[in-house]
Amino acid sequence: MTWFKKGEEAEKEGKEKREELKLSDEFWVKCNSCKEMIYRRVIERNLQVCPKCNYHFQIPGRKRIECLIDPGTFIEYDADLVSGDPLEFKDTKRYIHRIKESREATGHNDAISCGEGKIKGQPVLIGIFEFSFMGGSLGSVVGEKITRLIERGIEKKTGVVIFCASGGARMQEGILSLMQMAKTSAALARLHEARIPYLSVLTDPTTGGVSASIAMLGDVIIAEPKAMIGFAGPRVIKETIRAELPEGFQRAEYLLQHGMIDLIVERKDLRQTLASLLEMLRADG
Ligand SMILES: [Zn+2]
Repeated sequence: MTWFKKGEEAEKEGKEKREELKLSDEFWVKCNSCKEMIYRRVIERNLQVCPKCNYHFQIPGRKRIECLIDPGTFIEYDADLVSGDPLEFKDTKRYIHRIKESREATGHNDAISCGEGKIKGQPVLIGIFEFSFMGGSLGSVVGEKITRLIERGIEKKTGVVIFCASGGARMQEGILSLMQMAKTSAALARLHEARIPYLSVLTDPTTGGVSASIAMLGDVIIAEPKAMIGFAGPRVIKETIRAELPEGFQRAEYLLQHGMIDLIVERKDLRQTLASLLEMLRADG
C-alpha cells in the first residue's frame, strides 16, 4: 500500500469524487449536525436552517444582507480592494492563482464584504465574512477592510456588526496575515474608547486567528445555534491533551454555558435582536 498518490491517478480519483458530489449536491444536502439528507429547496426556504435539528448552514454574504438589511439601504465599501502577493508564496499552487480562482468562483475580491446600511431603521456598519473565499481566512485585505469599517464607525458614530465565519489566518500571507489580528484589535479598542458599540456574530465555523481577535472582542457576542467556535480544532486538542473532549465541545451552546458568549440567536430572529441592541447601545442615545 502506498501512502501517497501522485499525479494522474490521484487527480482522476479526485475528479470522480467531485463529480459525484456535484450531482447529489444539486438536490440534496447532508446536514453537518444531524447528518440527515435534506432536500435543498426545503433548506433554502428555511433561511438555510436544517428543519430537523436547527443547524444553521453557512449563507453567502449577499443572502445575509438580503435577510438582514433594510431593502435599498446597503452601500458596499472597498469592494475593489485586492490582495498582493508580497511573499510570492507558493505551496501546491501559487497564492496569486488561488486568489484568482476564489475570485472567479465567488464573485468577491476577498473573504469579507463590508458596507453600511440600516437594520429596522437603525444605521449600522456591517462586515460579513465569505467562508467560500479561501475559508474566510484573515488576510491583509480582510484586515484592512475591517479596520476601515471600524474607523468609519468612529467617524460616523455608528455601531459596527461583524458576522464571522473563518478558518483563521491566511497561511499564504504569513506574518502579514497574523498582524491583522493586532491591527483589527487595536481599531476595536479605539472604537471602544469612542463608546461606540461593536456586536460580533459568530457563525459556523469561527476558528483560529479570527476567534482569537475580532470574534471574541464584541461588546455583545452573539452566536448562531450549533456554530463551531474555537481556536484549534477538536482533533488537535484531543491529541495534545490526550483526553476525551466533553460532549458538545466548541459548539455555541457549550460556549454559552461556560460564559464565553452572551447570546445564541436563531437566524430568523437576528434582524430584530441586532436592531434592538443597536438602538439600546447607540452612541448618541
Ligand atoms: Zn440537521
